[in-house]
Amino acid sequence: MLSSAEEIQSARNLIIEVSRELHDIGLLVRTWGNISCRVDEDSFLITPSGIKYEDLTPEMIVQVNIHDLSYEGGILPSSEKAVHAACYRQRKDAEFIVHTHQVYASCAGTLGIKKIVSYIDDEDVVIPVAAYALPGTDKLATNVERTLKKFPDTKGIIMANHGTLCFGSSAREAVYEAEKMETACNNFLIDVCKTDMRHGVEVGFNSHLENGKIVYDIPDTPERVKHIHELIYRRRKDVKYIVHNKSEAVMTVSRRANHMRPLLDDFAQLIGYSVKVPSNEHGKDGLSFHNIKKHVNAIFSLSDGAYCVGRDEDDAMAVAMVLDKGCIAYTAVMRHGEGHYLSVWECYKMNRHYRKSYSKLADTAK
Ligand SMILES: [Zn+2]
Repeated sequence: MLSSAEEIQSARNLIIEVSRELHDIGLLVRTWGNISCRVDEDSFLITPSGIKYEDLTPEMIVQVNIHDLSYEGGILPSSEKAVHAACYRQRKDAEFIVHTHQVYASCAGTLGIKKIVSYIDDEDVVIPVAAYALPGTDKLATNVERTLKKFPDTKGIIMANHGTLCFGSSAREAVYEAEKMETACNNFLIDVCKTDMRHGVEVGFNSHLENGKIVYDIPDTPERVKHIHELIYRRRKDVKYIVHNKSEAVMTVSRRANHMRPLLDDFAQLIGYSVKVPSNEHGKDGLSFHNIKKHVNAIFSLSDGAYCVGRDEDDAMAVAMVLDKGCIAYTAVMRHGEGHYLSVWECYKMNRHYRKSYSKLADTAK
């Protein structure tokens, strides 16, 4: 329990410190994920909604009521505050909570199974998976609460098709839990789903617009690739930067004509809900690129990865990272033989909401 103003101030600082640490070790990306710290039986401090970790200051941390979710001040708390409140209510030993969209645990949470049984070193690890509900909804908080009740000893759960919730009696414990979960889930993907893929962006041919002219990072970019960049800039006036991602997971998905349905919330929000790999069957040459569409921010090229678009480098890189994670999930589900896909309606709702609320692309997209 934090009783003095000094203690509350140092908790605000600790939240910022932990958010930077999680960002540095790659468990937090952009504005996704949130962190909270219990103040007492009735309230907790939480990161605000839609602000990048590098821009956070202690004054932006919001104090929220555990019972009715009311909050102090003019800054909007994280949209996942109901999930944190449910955890503090259900688990009296929870003093610090981290919610992340970390790669391997999120991917394991798309397989449609109720718990991940894995290991780390010689320790058995069981990770419960809470049923899917749209982010920010009461239903999601209810699903999380139900799972915590069913697994009273757990210190971390996966929220299906979304991310994780890890907690402990201290910040250290919560972060340790998130790290442990990531390793255990990677082990699960390798052993059970035969999917051993490093997460990241492997850059092929990038470009950006400068005074209306296309500038290629690599001067001798092949004509075939230049043609694709030109098509994208012509059809998508909101795009100013293209990152060509040729990571192992993206390449794997790009090798087969596919209609890739989203498995993860952040994919549906940032990339789109109908992402296609062009076909070379039935007389098509795989080069027609009917898949360059408004609000679809990754354009697959048959057997050649995908072009990830944005208004600037930061936007396009975020798309490339989220696409890679989505492709790892997709590959794991294919190899596992089952998975839980998001419905078109859910994806549509999230995509629309995200474009309206957060995305810089939305400022200029038509
Ligand atoms: Zn989230």
